[in-house]
Formats: sequence, C-alpha cells, structure tokens
Amino acid sequence: MYALQDPVTVLPGIGEKKAQLLGKLGIRTLEDLQHWFPRRYVDRRKVWPIRHAPEGEEVCICGVVAQRPLTAYPRKGLSTTRLQVFDRSGLLYLTFFNQAYTAGKLKVGESYLFCGKIERMGQRLSMTNPIYEPEGRGELTGRIVPIYPLTAGVSARQLAEWIDLAVEECALLPEDLPAEVRSENGLAERNWAIRTVHRPDSFEDLTRARERLVFEELFYLTTGLELLHTRRVAGAGFRCTVLPVADFERLLPFTLTEAQRKTLQQIFVDQASGKIMNRLVQGDVGSGKTAVAAGAVWQCVRSGGQCALMAPTELLAMQHYHTLTTLLAPDGIRVGLLTGSSKAAEKRRVRQQIADGTLDLVVGTHALLSEGVTFARLGLVITDEQHRFGVEQRSALSAKAGAQKPHVLVMSATPIPRTLALIIYGDLDVSVIGERPPGRQDVETFLIGEDKRRRMMGFIRKQVQEGHQVYVVCPAVEETEETSGKVKNATDHAMVLQQAFPDLRVGLIHGRMKPKEKEVVMEAFLQGTVEILVSTTVIEVGVDAPNATLMVIEDADRFGLSQLHQLRGRVGRGTAQSFCVLVSSSKNEDTRQRLKALCQTNDGFRIAEKDLELRGPGDFFGARQHGLPQLQMADLACDTRILVQAREAAKRLLGEDPALVRPEHRVVLERTRRLFEENPDIFN
Ligand code: ADP
Ligand code: MG
Repeated sequence: MYALQDPVTVLPGIGEKKAQLLGKLGIRTLEDLQHWFPRRYVDRRKVWPIRHAPEGEEVCICGVVAQRPLTAYPRKGLSTTRLQVFDRSGLLYLTFFNQAYTAGKLKVGESYLFCGKIERMGQRLSMTNPIYEPEGRGELTGRIVPIYPLTAGVSARQLAEWIDLAVEECALLPEDLPAEVRSENGLAERNWAIRTVHRPDSFEDLTRARERLVFEELFYLTTGLELLHTRRVAGAGFRCTVLPVADFERLLPFTLTEAQRKTLQQIFVDQASGKIMNRLVQGDVGSGKTAVAAGAVWQCVRSGGQCALMAPTELLAMQHYHTLTTLLAPDGIRVGLLTGSSKAAEKRRVRQQIADGTLDLVVGTHALLSEGVTFARLGLVITDEQHRFGVEQRSALSAKAGAQKPHVLVMSATPIPRTLALIIYGDLDVSVIGERPPGRQDVETFLIGEDKRRRMMGFIRKQVQEGHQVYVVCPAVEETEETSGKVKNATDHAMVLQQAFPDLRVGLIHGRMKPKEKEVVMEAFLQGTVEILVSTTVIEVGVDAPNATLMVIEDADRFGLSQLHQLRGRVGRGTAQSFCVLVSSSKNEDTRQRLKALCQTNDGFRIAEKDLELRGPGDFFGARQHGLPQLQMADLACDTRILVQAREAAKRLLGEDPALVRPEHRVVLERTRRLFEENPDIFN
C-alpha cells in the first residue's frame, strides 16, 4: 500500500529520469497520477467479426495468426512486417511499418485482439499498424480504454500502467466533500469516481464519475474565490456628487456612443450611491473604454476624490497618461505617471504628490502596488485590460485605501465567455459596451502563404502611399537557437523591410528595449514619422494609433485566437477601411481552421468562445495571469450547470461557516489552500 503523497518514484519502473519527464506534466506524487485524467476514451468493448466490421473507423477484431509474420526491408529506414489472421467470418491482412519486433511477438495459431481501421480492396480486407494484445488480457482492448495526454519519452502503455497502479495500490482517499454537499447534489463517492474515470465499465458510470470530479474541482475553486471576495468587505464607498454626463462630454473631441453614455450613467450612479462600486466594463477592442474611464475619473475628482489607473504594460500606461492628460488637464485635473522604470527621484516626487493630494489621478503599472505608495483620499481604482492582472493584484490595490474603500472599475477588452466571467468576476456588476464608435468598419482579414508575399509587399506600399501606416508583428524578438529558421524575428525582419522599402522609415519596438526607447519609437509612429512599425506582441493591448490601417502578422499560427484578435484591434481605429493579413505556412488543418475563423468574424465574443473551445481554459490567456489554478477535469466551455451548482454549494457552506473553522470543514479549507498553492499569498 502506498500513500497519496508518495513520490512517483515509489512505483516500479519509475526512476529519476522518468520522474523528471512526469514532472514536466506536473505529476510528482501518486495523487497527481490519480488526477491525470484521460483526454478521451475509445470504446473497444465490442469485438467484430472480420467480415462484418465497418470500414473506415477504429474497430477491434479477434483473430488467429495464420502464418509466421514476414519482415521485408524495401529500402533503408523502412521495414514492413506482414501476416494474415482469420476468424470464422474471414481473413484479414495485417501490415506493420517499422515494427519488425512484432514478428517475434505474434505466435502462429494463437488468438489476439487487433484494433485499427479496416480497409477494403475488392474482396481483400486489410489493417495497417493495429494495436494488439493476446486475447483475454483486457488492457488495451475489450473495454472502454482511456487515452491520456502524453509527454515525449513516456509511452501510453507505461503511463496507463502507472496510473492503474496509483489508483489500485493507494490507500483509500478520505471523502472530503461535506456529506450534505454530496447528498444535496447527488454526487458519487470519491474513490469510486477516481477509479471509474480511469477504468469505466460504461459511459453512464463515466458521466457520473466525471460529474463528481468536475463538481469537486469547481467547488474548491469557487470556495477559494469566495474566500477572497468576502475579505474585500462591501461597505461604505467614497460618495460622489451626481453630475450630468453631458458636462463631462464637453471635454471630449467626439460625442459618446449610446453604449458609452449608458455605461457612464451607471458608473455615475454607482459612485454616488454611498456604497462601493464593483463594476466591470466589458467592450471589444476599439469600443472606446478609455473615454469611459476618463468620465469615471472626472466625476470622482470633481467630488474631491483621488483616482488610480493601473495598466498592464508601461507602453499602455504612458499612452493612457498622455490621453488622459490631454482630456482632463484642461478641466484642471492634475495627472501623474508612475511606472517601474520612472527615475528614483521622479518616483519620489510622484509618491509625495500622491500622498499630499497634489495629484488627482495617477496612472501606472503594477508599480502602483509597491510599497511606499499611500494615497491622500483614494476614491476610485481603475484597472485596464483586467484579464492581464491576477485576481490578487486587483484586491491589493484597493486594499491601499485604508479605512474607506475606493470604488473599483475594471475594464476588459477580452470578451470573456460567460462561465469564465462568472468565476473571475463573480462579484462584479457588468456593463457591456456593445457598439463601436460610428464610421468604423470591420477589419478585412486575409490568410496568406509565402507564395503571396510579393503581393503583400505591394499592398504595404499602397497603404503607405495613401498616407496610412502599417504594423508588422513577429513572434520573436531576435534570432536565437530556438527561433532560427522557424519563425520571423522582429529585429531581422525590420532590416529586411527597411531594405525592401529604402525610402520609407521602418521602426522597431519590442519588450527587451528600454521603456524610454519604446516611448521614442511609439511617439514617432503616432506622429507619423515612422510608416512601418515592426514589433512583437508588446503592442497587443491598448495601443491606439488611428492612422494605422494595415496589420501584418507573421507566423500567425504561433498566436492564440484571442491574441490575434487583440492585435488586429490595433487597426480599424479610424474611419478608413483597415486590413489584417495573417501570414502562415502551416499546413495543419486545425490551425488553418482556427485562422480562418478570424477571417470570418470581427466579433470578439465569438472568437473568445471559439478559442476557449479549441484551447481550453488553462491556456485561454494564461490561467496564471488570472491567479487562477489550472483546472484538470472541468471544461468551462460546457460545464456551466455544474459550475452554478458548485458555486451555490460553496456560498451556502461559507454562509454557515465563513472561515471554515468547524472541524468537519477543515479538510475543505486544506483542499482549497492546496488548489491555490501557486498563489499562497492570496489567503494571507
Ligand atoms: P478601447 O476600448 O480598445 O480601449 P479606446 O478607448 O482606445 O478603445 O478608443 C479607440 C479609439 O476610438 C480612440 O482613438 C478613441 O479616441 C476613439 N473613440 C472613443 N470613443 C469614441 C466616440 N464616441 N466617437 C469617436 N471616436 C471615439
Ligand atoms: Mg483600451
């Protein structure tokens, strides 16, 4: 008998090397092995008579080996092993490529199960590279077989064996969901569920087992998040005076869209209510969230409050600083900038002015969270592009306020699918800016291969001739061993473009440059003195240069869908027709489908859902960036019902025992802590 927390090396066949490979998958203990869930299952319960097996899909047949397998070597590096097997219904020809060892394993006259696709040529039936095992063994065939995600160096067979051992040989797990939670939600018992998920007898059992495990995962997740949220006590918020939105609008060079106006009205009411505002403004790229933020700041400052705006990158912080200064300074609002790279003396000065109340608004990066920043009368905290910050950072900034809590406004361009929103922003009111400023057209998007590069270069030239500007995004900063010959790097590509367009000015911007250098290049692009800007994804969020009408994305297959949509959002911000060209030579059909989805729609919400579906929530803009733990079993794209149930259960439990101090709830607290282990601070 092993214990759950034993390292994987206690199992026979796992030495240091294999343990390291497993470590790459995050598997360290036997419990991790138990929780390494199958990605899918194949139903190999049915054994078909050879003659009647359907063609073209995976089937199992049981056949007797009719003759000694023959191996031939038609050319260097290739071997073929051929044999025939039969059952009562007929004969089947088997071919194995480069598996000469099978010849020694398959004994004449004995029965084996073979699984693979049957092909028919006239009367002759054949199967290529089937998997097989002796009849009656029941490991790979004769049951519902789990298919596990793998890593290089560990075979499917090995991994399955180890998981079976971990499940069979471990001491039983204590049931850790509270009994009433289990009975109220009709959930299966834990040990049964783990066993069944790895070795289901039927798909009905599998569904029940999966439901239990998904529930468990989402229950601990939401319990953890609830614990976080309830610490941010709802209470009295900074009380603003109600002001007409129209008074603010006078400061703007444009009229607000209906959606912007409605959102601002909601914010104005919230901020004047006397209670803390917790609001998420969700609007696709280019919908005009900055103006909304400016309005919120304006009302707060007019009422005597101080505001902080936090952006995920320095580039964006600087841009916001400029935009907001232009908009708000004429009305007497004093704006400051504080980023990690501000000079020490400058930092000191800004901190001082925040503390003594000279500044009404400070714009910054997470440097705002650092020690030594105290506000005189913080009334409002805004985080832009919220999805880039962790849950914990959001709370950290509002914790700066002291006794009176500031209003919280979060802005996100990434349209978050409902389920994910429920988890991340479960505690927020939501405003949606569902329209773009007038005159905006969809960005026309094309997917091209290398053969069209010449034409694309001509297109770049044409855009510039018409007085517009062009972004070219590359996946890498510079040539390295990893990128060499595989993907374009911005540094070299900028030189190539400069040579191709000797009369144009080509700029380069990437994350390794000093903030000051970045600022200079960005400023040149905004001023129009640089026509072509080659960059990495540093320009992904928020950057606003309305005269740019063409975005070229090199090696587009290297990026996720939502990221591509964000990048594409850098153009189409003025009234001229804009274009996005995705360059990819990938032949992979899935990849091409993914990229084509982007050509078909400009609707960020649909793209985000597609992305979630294709990549899973773990990858969806990096679970880490949310401060959310990785989910192993739950699929947020489809498990909404269970999520709602689990959340209810978590809330009810915390309603009865808010800090989970009762002895019977200790285990819940421990599990929750462990789930959030990567971010232990959030519980302090
Ligand atoms: P995002 O929602 O992506 O943050 P921004 O706030 O950067 O969008 O706005 C995109 C562009 O649209 C900016 O150039 C901004 O000045 C402009 N804009 C915003 N609101 C309006 C409006 N109501 N009418 C015209 N232009 C607008
Ligand atoms: Mg923005």
